[in-house]
Amino acid sequence: MNDTTKPTEPNPPAEARDFIREIIHGDLQAGKHSAVVTRFPPEPNGYLHIGHVKAICLNFGVARDFGGRCHLRFDDTNPLKEEQEYIDAIQDDVRWLGFDWGKHLYFASDYFAQLYDWAVVLIRAGKAYVDDLTADQIREYRGTLTEPGRNSPFRERTVEENLDLFDRMRRGEFPDGSRTLRAKIDMTSGNINLRDPVLYRILHARHPRTGDAWCVYPTYDYAHGQSDAIEGVTHSLCTLEFEDHKPLYDWLITNLPVPAVPKQYEFARLNLTSTVLSKRFLLRLVNERRVRGWDDPRMPTVSGIRRRGFPAEALRQFAEMIGVARRASVVDWAMLEHCVREVLNRTAERRMAVLRPLKVVLTNYPEDRFEEFEAVNNPEDVGAGTRRVAFGRELWIEQDDFMEDPPKKFFRLSPGKEVRLRSAYFITCQEVIKNERGEVVELRCTYDPDTRGGSAPDGRSPKATLHWVSAKHAVPAEVRLYDQLFGRPDPGAENDLVEDLSETSETILSPCWLEPSLGGMKVGTQVQFERLGYFCLDRDSTSERQVWNRTITLRDTWAKVQKQT
Ligand code: ATP
Ligand code: MG
Repeated sequence: MNDTTKPTEPNPPAEARDFIREIIHGDLQAGKHSAVVTRFPPEPNGYLHIGHVKAICLNFGVARDFGGRCHLRFDDTNPLKEEQEYIDAIQDDVRWLGFDWGKHLYFASDYFAQLYDWAVVLIRAGKAYVDDLTADQIREYRGTLTEPGRNSPFRERTVEENLDLFDRMRRGEFPDGSRTLRAKIDMTSGNINLRDPVLYRILHARHPRTGDAWCVYPTYDYAHGQSDAIEGVTHSLCTLEFEDHKPLYDWLITNLPVPAVPKQYEFARLNLTSTVLSKRFLLRLVNERRVRGWDDPRMPTVSGIRRRGFPAEALRQFAEMIGVARRASVVDWAMLEHCVREVLNRTAERRMAVLRPLKVVLTNYPEDRFEEFEAVNNPEDVGAGTRRVAFGRELWIEQDDFMEDPPKKFFRLSPGKEVRLRSAYFITCQEVIKNERGEVVELRCTYDPDTRGGSAPDGRSPKATLHWVSAKHAVPAEVRLYDQLFGRPDPGAENDLVEDLSETSETILSPCWLEPSLGGMKVGTQVQFERLGYFCLDRDSTSERQVWNRTITLRDTWAKVQKQT
């Protein structure tokens, strides 16, 4: 861990929070801009992941902090990989995260006509040419980091010939890949991005928004900065891999009659332990059906962690905690979980649920008798009130909470031992019933009627308090336990990523038994199952059977790490 992962001070002035805000503050102070305008520019070729959350919180957060605005702009320049489904999902995710672009929803494809006209401006100025080299040849001519590139034999075409060819490219006369439009900059530049970068390629592909109107499409490098300029973006924030593209970004802005001069700034992308943040790889998991889809609760996508039960507030808090810097780092996944626990501890009501049930029969409790106990909904929030929990002769407890032959430090139930049932009675185990295979299937216990509500008049107090559910009243459910998708903190370091997928990332338990107040909950409801963790009602639930996802266990490994340092 390094300094970028320490929590920020409470409410420092915005400009003191990170270098980006410091720059923006300075620009505003110097009167360079009257208002800050940022944008979040996803390519709609997949669902958003936690890395994007960092970029979203930064762009929208900066706009909020300085009273500016943030656009949502889809960078939809590659029709082969982009789909309407992704456009819709991305908007949904950004809104869910709590951000609002107002009327500022844009698409790079809105600017295709303008971008085309500007390409013609470059051709007329002798600053762009149509090249007939194939993609492989272009690569070969480009040179390497240590060797300069070579000029294409087509580089010296006349303006007229270039105008004619570019027009015919646009009109669909040439097959895919046969020609490109390239900027004429410098094939010997030390920066490979300036070695006559491709501005347009031919793609006879249907675009999700412009349909068949175009068969030439601008490259990312050409479209991005010009889109920023058209929208009046002042600070174009992107991740460090674009640092080497900045001279090209500036070259295009300088050489085109754009209406504004945006500036690009780079920050380090988010990396998380045990997690792969790459749309390409996540798409592979979906396509190979290794997960239930983009919103599988194990996916590091926004829709996945949302389905798993991570609250939006926790993600925003996490983004704030990791901050923004230029130095690359890997953030511990446990830190994200820490934020999730902090929010859920405050907001999630407590309930009792038994995931691996073991039957308990109270032999001295009358068969036809039932009673109800009052239980606190959330000890962290008195306003959350109380609820009534039904109790009867037959109960479910957790298999883990019983041992026939316990080691010394096991304080839960065992033959002859007394424990407290949360909010109910003390019980003592009298007899263990087994099946033919020798497995424990039932416990015969007695309860002490003088301990109603969970305390004894003589002041004795058992060391363990167990959760329980009345068998007669319980609601059945399937519970899905989730763990890291990968079995190691550095997936892909030695093997193909897929080989590092953990086999125990999902465990399905059924039937589990829930206290009756959990019946009829809405999908997305989040509760703490006492002693077990936080859970969220999944959209796979039906009227017959609920499905709950375990969002997270109760153990906070990050808080422990922090204490040690
Ligand atoms: P991926 O590598 O997963 O495909 P990408 O960078 O190609 O991601 P885009 O849709 O182009 O995805 O990203 C939109 C914005 O989000 C860009 O500004 C990009 O810099 C930013 N971004 C993407 N991944 C991260 C990350 N891990 N951390 C911070 N910002 C990110
Ligand atoms: Mg990208």
